Amino acid sequence: MFKNLINGQWVDGASTIVNINPSDTRDAIGEYALADAAQAREAVAAAHAAFATWSLTTPQQRFDILDAVGTEILARRAELGDLLAREEGKTLPEAIGEVVRAGNIFKFFAGEALRGAGDVLPSVRPGVGVEVTREPVGVVGLITPWNFPIAIPAWKVAPALAYGNTVVFKPAELVPGSAWALADILQRAGVPAGVFNLVMGRGREVGQVLLDDSRVAAVSFTGSVATGRLVAQACVARGAKFQLEMGGKNPFVVLDDADLNVAVNCAIQSGFFSTGQRCTASSRVIVTEGLHDRFVAAMAERMKTLKVDDARKPGTDIGPVVDERQLEQDLAYIAIGQQEGATLVAGGQYIERNAAGAPGYYLTPALFTGTAASMRINTEEIFGPVVSVIRAKDYEEALHLANDTPFGLASGIATTSLKHATHFKRHAQAGMVMVNLPTAGVDYHVPFGGRKGSSYGPREQGAYAAEFYTTVKTGYTLA
Ligand code: NAD
Repeated sequence: MFKNLINGQWVDGASTIVNINPSDTRDAIGEYALADAAQAREAVAAAHAAFATWSLTTPQQRFDILDAVGTEILARRAELGDLLAREEGKTLPEAIGEVVRAGNIFKFFAGEALRGAGDVLPSVRPGVGVEVTREPVGVVGLITPWNFPIAIPAWKVAPALAYGNTVVFKPAELVPGSAWALADILQRAGVPAGVFNLVMGRGREVGQVLLDDSRVAAVSFTGSVATGRLVAQACVARGAKFQLEMGGKNPFVVLDDADLNVAVNCAIQSGFFSTGQRCTASSRVIVTEGLHDRFVAAMAERMKTLKVDDARKPGTDIGPVVDERQLEQDLAYIAIGQQEGATLVAGGQYIERNAAGAPGYYLTPALFTGTAASMRINTEEIFGPVVSVIRAKDYEEALHLANDTPFGLASGIATTSLKHATHFKRHAQAGMVMVNLPTAGVDYHVPFGGRKGSSYGPREQGAYAAEFYTTVKTGYTLA
């Protein structure tokens, strides 16, 4: 049984949950403790008590711990990647890539602990000096989704600890394995008792404590829009700092002058890989008239080569959907698309058993054409391997369609025109914009996040993470 980590101790939960492999639902990965609200409050109390000491540790102490965590994650990439692929269903190469990213993030923020700079300015008043410094915020509550079981926890935990905060971390119920492994690594790397606490549990119970407890100074949340709204309401009500990263309906524009191969590669990669379960996935591909038919034909041709199978089997391109609920949602939207009058040109079939006969949540990647921008498949986040093609007259209409969404996480374009690429980068209403690259797949040392309905608050990752995980102090001294 895998336990929660509260105040440096591994403790039983109030109940347990079994972690199931979506590639083979007969395979139980392990039994994990589920905390209740009382245990979540104990974790908050521990983090609160530990803050006074941890916030005053030297940058060297924090560097050493975070660097050791990064080293262990990188050294165990194959094993941790296997666990991640087994519990979440992304392919083994994708899962190992995510683990490597998590390791690199810890290394990056180990360095950031050493780089904690401030500003020294002359005052407008004679004889006075001004200095602007950053201090940790306090206890931070971290709430994460299931689709990046180790990278998202890493990009919240690492900066939180690097800047001197203490942490209560609540992972998604579907992927406790990677979260537990990360907690175990932190614990053995020498994080003092109470500084990092793991409380696996239900969102409405354990997550809610992090939103409501006045000792939690800040909440960093990644997940759905619906839950994000609850986080915002609760945090505003008690004046806590918060940051939200939520859904997307990311567009990928393909212009007549695009390199067809580049365009198809980008659309396949960001539409279908990781089973389309990435917040940065492109679910709307907007293609101008001159290339539309050739693009669709090339997509359909490439899709025939994609192997949907066990996430850990060599050669698999697309693993299973994460669970039954998500599969039902994907299939419901595929039916809705057809009812709305879109043409399903490829995929969209549920396969109950893989080639080896194992039961899992397999879905062939689905491509819709003849879609209107107003259809639900083009306006609502599906979060599965489902891509719709929208035909556009020209670049101007394509840009308008790309921006015509309440979301604004990532936006991409395939073009060989410098003029259009430059214009698109400036005018895409998104936090991240890609030219001749898939919308999914980003660097770990630069800001990540969106605008409009996708995000709220300061960016995550890179040096910009300091905006959320620190608070600024302005000091005045009469010399
Ligand atoms: P979700 O909102 O259902 O759950 C996210 C987390 O919130 C989980 O840990 C859950 O237990 C917790 N939670 C649920 N109810 C809560 C409550 N009342 N109080 C506190 N916590 C609560 O999302 P999900 O299904 O796990 O993840 C999929 C969603 O995440 C998609 O919408 C996707 O776009 C989004 N996502 C966004 C980003 C990004 O950076 N923008 C990255 C990955 C995923």
